[in-house]
Amino acid sequence: MKCKYCGQEMIDIKDYCVNCGRKLTDDKKGISVGGLFLIFGILIAVSIFVCYMIMNYNTEKDIQPYIDHQQVEESKVE
Ligand SMILES: [Zn+2]
Repeated sequence: MKCKYCGQEMIDIKDYCVNCGRKLTDDKKGISVGGLFLIFGILIAVSIFVCYMIMNYNTEKDIQPYIDHQQVEESKVE
């Protein structure tokens, strides 16, 4: 690996260049923070979707007996 600032050849990947002392991990860190936000956003989106599905499922389940009850009541009146 070569330093992107001064071109110093380095055997190990280090946070700072041994020749010019510049930080070399900025780009890598930026990607990881962006990836973290992406994962966080996906998690929120998934949890909202799951909550929406659960709410929809419960609503349909709760309404169905009510509709059946109303139909029974109507048939009784007629
Ligand atoms: Zn350097």
